Amino acid sequence: MPIAFLLTLESMIDHSTIERIFDSAQIVDVVSEFVSLKRRGVNYLGLCPFHNEKTPSFTVSPAKGIFKCFGCGKGGNAVNFIMEHEHLSYPEALRWLAKKYHIEIEEKEVTPEELAKQNERESMLVVTQYAARQFAENLFHGHEGMALGLSYFRERGFGDAVLHKFEVGYCNERRDDFTKKAIAAGYKSEYMVMSGLTIDREGYLFDRFAGRIMFPIHSLSGQVLGFGGRIIKSDPKAAKYVNTPETEIYHKSRIVYGIFQARQAIIKEDRCYLVEGYTDVLSMHETGIENVVASSGTALTQDQIRLIKRFTPNITMLYDGDPAGIKASLRGTDMVLEEGMNVRIVMLPEGEDPDSYSKKVSDEEFKRYLKENETDFIRFKTRLLIDEAQGDPVRRANLVREVVRSIAVIPDQITRTVYVKECSTQLGMPEEVVLDEVMKLRKQPSFRDRNAWPGQEGAADGRTGTGAGTGSGLWGDQQGSGTNGSRTTAARQRKPEETSYYSEREILRLLIRYGAEVLTRYTDKETGTETITTVADYIITEIKEDDLRFENELFTSMFEEITFTVEQGLAPGDKQFVHHPNPAISTLVVDMLTEKDSLSLIWGKHGAYVETEEMKLKEIVPDAVLKFKGDKIKIMQKEIRKAMIEAAGDDGKISELQEQYKVMTSLQKKISAGLGGRLII
Ligand SMILES: [Zn+2]
Repeated sequence: MPIAFLLTLESMIDHSTIERIFDSAQIVDVVSEFVSLKRRGVNYLGLCPFHNEKTPSFTVSPAKGIFKCFGCGKGGNAVNFIMEHEHLSYPEALRWLAKKYHIEIEEKEVTPEELAKQNERESMLVVTQYAARQFAENLFHGHEGMALGLSYFRERGFGDAVLHKFEVGYCNERRDDFTKKAIAAGYKSEYMVMSGLTIDREGYLFDRFAGRIMFPIHSLSGQVLGFGGRIIKSDPKAAKYVNTPETEIYHKSRIVYGIFQARQAIIKEDRCYLVEGYTDVLSMHETGIENVVASSGTALTQDQIRLIKRFTPNITMLYDGDPAGIKASLRGTDMVLEEGMNVRIVMLPEGEDPDSYSKKVSDEEFKRYLKENETDFIRFKTRLLIDEAQGDPVRRANLVREVVRSIAVIPDQITRTVYVKECSTQLGMPEEVVLDEVMKLRKQPSFRDRNAWPGQEGAADGRTGTGAGTGSGLWGDQQGSGTNGSRTTAARQRKPEETSYYSEREILRLLIRYGAEVLTRYTDKETGTETITTVADYIITEIKEDDLRFENELFTSMFEEITFTVEQGLAPGDKQFVHHPNPAISTLVVDMLTEKDSLSLIWGKHGAYVETEEMKLKEIVPDAVLKFKGDKIKIMQKEIRKAMIEAAGDDGKISELQEQYKVMTSLQKKISAGLGGRLII
């Protein structure tokens, strides 16, 4: 029931606040925080953050306040976007938007248990934010922090601007200094333990990061998720770096260090530099290069690559001039190629890392070095392996296999061809041989399963050239050309159980899209009064008079809401549902609104249908109602058949059921006739 549903969802946030949030949240503004959008007619277009694509099919309509990806089918309003993108619950997403638009949230009364449960993640974020502030305070104003931490940064040439930008800090050496301070300031120790700042050893609480300089790790939106801590004093027993363990809010494999500070620059430069350590990132910022992130020492994960790919397809990896280290890190690089990224490599002079080298030379020299020494990844790898395999035939065979593998994972066919050409020259082998190997590898079932969906390339190719929508309909021509791909994906995602799923859905679509449109006008010749029947009036009357029900629960609640609205004398509208507090409903409605007139598509196949839906409401609406009724009859017939089996032996009961069945069949025939033979049974 809609009312009960509203109550559970909104128990935390006052209803008028939710409305204010929905009114303030501009879809283009919200999406642009994470995706770079380009204007296309009345809409905006960008690369979908929810699936891997090279040609943009992710569309944002500022007029409707919705987004829709015609590649993977994801769609919804601004709140749905934040939920999906930031992996937040509905109330969390509302809070996120409230913060962005400086809307104060009116809290409702809730039980302490509810509050504790709902706020767990938020409480952890509050603690990490406090910790970052406290550590910065220690570093810049504390006696110990200034003597040990700040001097460390100063010696390495870091200025205040960069240190503040990254909110670096210092955790004092006394084992429980931070924990004690935080508890005294009113923070709960359970959240400090949960967020990895405090360790609880049989009731004794102490700091994980004591005696370390602190690098907060920020989310894309700037929240502190965790920390990296570097030891200052040389202590052979202590690890040089300690990081926050996996927590409810910090997932090492999903974030890269520095992305919050780098995202604007990455978009602007259309390139992302990848380095290894926290101080490498800071040093690069110090030289004026701000499009840089760090993988924090581990090989890149797919999530991290996709995170970077939202902003640019171009990644340049900086390596210290240490051959052993390079070989180790090359292993993970095929994954970056698989994602369709353009990968380049810069090798720093022997014994240098970005931090040390940027200090050694001037900013200008450093920048020039990066530009002049940038090598394409596959060329780089080939040359490296050639050097290594000199005069060793076995190693040489392995080398060819390695290079072929790297080429084979590249999703784009043209790029692959270019590499085959180049590498065959470099390797001194005929082009056909290399190409043959690449094709053989791509055909292996294990390779295909791991690297692509069958037919993925075809779908992507089919979409090329569709970007220039002029915005004629809701989405311009974007949608028409993406139809095949998006429809099959959508169908795959949703497996309707009910026989009548599609006819029920169509009824709701017509109600939401055309509910307020006039279907018939009738003037009483004697009294002269005019009776107007809207689409909503017609459908609701037809369904209620026959006492028909929706099988699908979600549809049932939507139909009830629409009926309620109409009974209040109001017109049902799409906005009511696009902004619906139930995300299942709002995303469904966005799907409905962004589909091309589905009936006309079906009929178009048979050749005749050319007019738009709106012109044809007089036919479409009654037909949809008949189809709906036809499906209900099918369900009833199925039930009768089942009852007949159960009544086996009881002749009286069976003949009674047979009579009922006959009635249904004749009704079905009438419906088919009413549909002009279009009903497919
Ligand atoms: Zn998508």
